[in-house]
Amino acid sequence: MTRTALARFQERLTAEGLDGALIAAPEALSSTNLRYLSGFTGSSAYLLITPAHAWLLTDFRYLEQARIESPAYDVIRQGKRVADTVADLCQSAHVARLGFEADKVPYAMWKGWRERIPVIWRPLNQLVEKLRVVKSDEEIQYIRQAAHIADEALREVLPTAVGRSERDLALALEWAMRRRGAESLAFDTIVAAGERGAWPHARPSDRIIQPGELLTIDFGAQFHGYKSDETVTVATGSLSPELRRLVEIVAEAQAEGIEAVRPGNTARAVDAAARAVIEKAGYAEAFGHGTGHGVGLDIHEAPYASPDPANDVTLEPGMTLTVEPGIYLPGVGGCRLEDTLVITETGAERLTEWPKTFQILG
Ligand code: ZN
Ligand code: ZN
Repeated sequence: MTRTALARFQERLTAEGLDGALIAAPEALSSTNLRYLSGFTGSSAYLLITPAHAWLLTDFRYLEQARIESPAYDVIRQGKRVADTVADLCQSAHVARLGFEADKVPYAMWKGWRERIPVIWRPLNQLVEKLRVVKSDEEIQYIRQAAHIADEALREVLPTAVGRSERDLALALEWAMRRRGAESLAFDTIVAAGERGAWPHARPSDRIIQPGELLTIDFGAQFHGYKSDETVTVATGSLSPELRRLVEIVAEAQAEGIEAVRPGNTARAVDAAARAVIEKAGYAEAFGHGTGHGVGLDIHEAPYASPDPANDVTLEPGMTLTVEPGIYLPGVGGCRLEDTLVITETGAERLTEWPKTFQILG
């Protein structure tokens, strides 16, 4: 997979008129593009890639690991100043126009490079992200496995929810995911009960989960670097008609959104399909976020399903997309239902397993 990703990136470099690209992932920067292109999982490295060659620069801690994880790369121990090592390599490989991730590299870092690496700097303009948006079968399999781990964990702990604090339930869920093979959490688990469900990204608190309220859990596992993303909202006992109606509207909106996930359709159309149900029910103002996002090495990545035409894309087989409409009523409660899907040749496949219908625990 890594070799294919590297080869495709090298082709793009040539097409963009670049002699090379510098992908930097020191401790402070996101390493997902670097991992995608190299397979390296350590916390600090740089890639210098030309159409014909690829180097991975890292420090003493990671030399052996990098040689094993990134066999397509020449692994080099970085000098005291990484920029000097890059400058030497650029000179010997005749790199004049060097691409860099202008949307990720801090200005001070780039300024340091500019002083020491004599090249013409060119922004890469999401070159790696454009490759990442369509997943290989192997990548989809990792996301599917992450989703399966998370769902099995939820099945184990959800029946024990009532009487526990949100924080305690989150911890039990996280432990159950890790025990089933999650290498880490995909993101910080959200557990929000009762009126706290009106906060779309509530942190688990010490509030005790009561019978007869709505409980929202947004959770995911990470497997081989790939993440899953799912939200369930369940009733912890019989509910007021207003709250029950809330879940039914969101479930209908989510089903309509999923129905619109197919190749050739746009991400914006998926948002519109889900949003129309919530608007028709009179809750337009209570659904203030986009309907979905891609999932992969990052928890939020392209494509994005929102009303904004600026980041709209046409869906293609191999893309992932969540569908996660919600209604949030301050002081009352909230509901969000979320699945992660992969677009197939004919439609879409749900990778997350929990049914998104009105459900009462117990
Ligand atoms: Zn989520
Ligand atoms: Zn999500």
